[in-house]
Amino acid sequence: MREARTTCPYCGVGCGVLASVEEERIVEVQGDPTHPANFGRLCVKGSALHETLGSQGRLTQPRVDGVEVDWETALATVAERLTAVRDRHGSQALAAYLSGQLLTEDYYVANKLFKGFLGTPHLDTNSRLCMASAVAAHKRAFGADAVPCSYEDLEEAELVVLVGSNLAWNHPVLYQRLKVAKQRNPLLRVVVIDPRVTDTCEIADLYLGLKPGSDARLFTGLLAWMAERNRLDRVYLEAHAQGIEEALAAAREQDASVEAIAADCDVDAERLETFFYWFATHLHVVTLFSQGVNQSSSGTDKGNAIINCHLAGGKIGLPGAGPFSITGQPNAMGGREVGGLANQLAAHMDYDTPGARDRVTRFWATERLVPCLPEAPGHKAVALFEAIERGEVQALWIMATNPAVSLPRADRVRAALAKCPLVIVSECMADADLLACADIVLPASSWSEKDGTVTNSERCISRQRGLLPPPGEARHDWWIVCEVARRLGFGEAFDYAHPCEIFDEHARLSGFENGEGPGESPRLFDISGLAGLDRGAYDALAPIQWPVNAAAPHGTARLFTDGRFATPDGRARLLPVRPRPPAQALDAARPLRLNTGRIRDQWHTMTRTGRAPRLMNHRAEPFIEVAPEDAAEWGVEEQALARLTGAGGHYVGRVRVSRGQRRGEVFVPMHWSGHFSGSARMGELLEAHLDPFSGQPESKHGAVSLEPLPLDWEATLLVADDLGVAETTWCDESRYWARIPLADCQRWQLAGDEPGACAGMEKVERDWLAWLEARLPVAPTLWCSDPASGRLRAAGVDERGRLRWWFMSGPPRELPNLAWLAERFGEAARSEGVTAAQRRRLLAGCDDGAANQGPVVCSCHQVGQRAILGAIREGDDSVEALGARLACGTQCGSCIPELKSLIEEEKAHAGAEPTEVTAVA
Ligand code: SF4
Repeated sequence: MREARTTCPYCGVGCGVLASVEEERIVEVQGDPTHPANFGRLCVKGSALHETLGSQGRLTQPRVDGVEVDWETALATVAERLTAVRDRHGSQALAAYLSGQLLTEDYYVANKLFKGFLGTPHLDTNSRLCMASAVAAHKRAFGADAVPCSYEDLEEAELVVLVGSNLAWNHPVLYQRLKVAKQRNPLLRVVVIDPRVTDTCEIADLYLGLKPGSDARLFTGLLAWMAERNRLDRVYLEAHAQGIEEALAAAREQDASVEAIAADCDVDAERLETFFYWFATHLHVVTLFSQGVNQSSSGTDKGNAIINCHLAGGKIGLPGAGPFSITGQPNAMGGREVGGLANQLAAHMDYDTPGARDRVTRFWATERLVPCLPEAPGHKAVALFEAIERGEVQALWIMATNPAVSLPRADRVRAALAKCPLVIVSECMADADLLACADIVLPASSWSEKDGTVTNSERCISRQRGLLPPPGEARHDWWIVCEVARRLGFGEAFDYAHPCEIFDEHARLSGFENGEGPGESPRLFDISGLAGLDRGAYDALAPIQWPVNAAAPHGTARLFTDGRFATPDGRARLLPVRPRPPAQALDAARPLRLNTGRIRDQWHTMTRTGRAPRLMNHRAEPFIEVAPEDAAEWGVEEQALARLTGAGGHYVGRVRVSRGQRRGEVFVPMHWSGHFSGSARMGELLEAHLDPFSGQPESKHGAVSLEPLPLDWEATLLVADDLGVAETTWCDESRYWARIPLADCQRWQLAGDEPGACAGMEKVERDWLAWLEARLPVAPTLWCSDPASGRLRAAGVDERGRLRWWFMSGPPRELPNLAWLAERFGEAARSEGVTAAQRRRLLAGCDDGAANQGPVVCSCHQVGQRAILGAIREGDDSVEALGARLACGTQCGSCIPELKSLIEEEKAHAGAEPTEVTAVA
């Protein structure tokens, strides 16, 4: 067994991982104690990484027009068809859509091929949906897309303000670091500003549950308040910034009284003033913001409203101080470094950067090419798919992302893809639903196989190492791009033998003529100090924060410490911000505000995390979170199925009534694709309103209606993975379905509205048994029905005594504990039949009468909500006591806020005095 260092492929924290590798298998992962992002911690997603591997379900062979081919045929066809489109329609008809999942080296060669050699600017990335507004705000304020802070600034701050960020779920290790810092330093205060009461509020000294979209009003109000009370740092502003008067004038266009701001933001005025006071009177303030700010039609302005307050108070460039945009994806920052956004050219140079086009042309030696480098920016994500819809873009290469789920108007995206004459998809998973849209499918390598670098939210470049060989014919993305480039005639420029050679070129370009042009300020993204690494040095590269150059050979933890910014005059810019409401208007037909986001245990469209059964148990089905008053008003009930209707379609999920949800607003997760549920793609609910500067869509502010889903029946079906059934039969005939992978079987939640299916016990028995017999290769062997409820339970056991399927009619809240049944399917996978005693318990679904334990709260130890509530009722009313009894919360700690909430809820129900977690301190 050997141990290897690599980096987690999920969120923007970028944790270091120690992987134990045995015979081409990763048997265990742990946090890397030496990595500066996590110092040995991992969240539940990271600690389940080894459970998501394996060749099962992987895409292992290229396909052209649905036919499996060898690589030579696939690559030649890609080159031929791209050439044909370019010859016929010009370079502007070619486009690429990339992902923050790609490594920097993959990104670099894709950007170089499309912009440098194919001459099209239309290369964008799903990072557009994540942090493009923060990028635009950085550029406007600092002159460069540069995050000033490091993670250690969160620990050194006196005040940490979290805006639009559920850090506890979306960046769990960073949240744990902040929590520990707060325990060590009781003077460190945390303010959470978010429309939803999330698990992050566990550590909040002050919570502001603002009206969605009112962030800019809140921060322009703060600026005016600081000016009014003489809390601006006039010395800093005089020396290092410009624009304060214009920013203040804009802030004062609206009533700047605390009462008026509080009313506009719908928060308590006293709490708001407390926040203003805390912000103004502390120097070491970090404001960490994320998608809640960025995913807005005015996200760039919101970012600048936050940055304005930091500049105005001189709270930047110091330990524990600065605005801190945290990215969602593992390599969103790396993509920005190479120029992987449509408005960028390369290496933090934009089209309008003086001399940039000429410099990049010379560096890539594309002078003799026709067409040469594009002259103007390309289509940003949403505009790109509109251009495809209009027929202007005729060929699209998608790598490692699924725009048909995550983009607004996902229905139109799918229609556009269906219209596009050439769609090339590079993908790891054989069942990704995007493959149905592809003319050419290219099997790509995945985490643990890929070899390269990623950059996390604090500008830290880390190695993601190739530890295992890719399965079958899967290949690295950089290799695929370079092989296509060769067949297009650009072999000399793409003649890399290893990603270290690409990284070297990327590092050299970052330093190439950097700051040498007349009147040009140096480009902050400069890793020229990492140029020239040989293979050994690249393999051994330790995490390091850029800039890394002659002036900073060991990297740079904090930017702007000397008060000099990357603008031509070295001074930061405060921007006049005029708050605007969300562009998606509510009306009588769609009266509820839709918020979208991530959940604790899942990542993106679940193509990876969906392979780890224990990650599926926290939130097993798509859901709709709704305030109790709205649930009553719209007639939906806890755990019942309900439907949202939005701009382009419907979304069906199970209702979760939550007191943390504001009235008039609902929340849905972003993760479910058509592979996991038939009608839970949140992108179909959203209109495509974009921020005018960043092009980022307004994914946090949809407008929807809510109604109960009329149903006549619900059922649960568990089917052994190796049974070989055509699942579409029950998907097509169900009004709702969700697929939940367990270890050796698939759980299907089904619901329909054909009258009569549940009309009487005899009919139920007859109908369901016939239904099962018609769809499953093993006939019902055991069954029973409950005369009182009319519910049927049935199971199919084959001639070798193996459990092949299990069924229960009725809603899932009546399920037994499925862990016992999952064990029987595990035995069946090992060709073991059920024992006589087990067979007698099959229909009960458990051996001890245990009921379904409810949603799993602690994913590390698989502890369900019912067991936790039972322990609380027996007196274990602290996290420590629950941990001692059930082990929940004792590993990664991600579930601790939820444990605390359950304790609080139980106390409230029992009439005990609840603890006020969000009180003004
Ligand atoms: S916090 Fe993010 S990077 Fe770290 S282990 Fe969890 S998902 Fe991976």
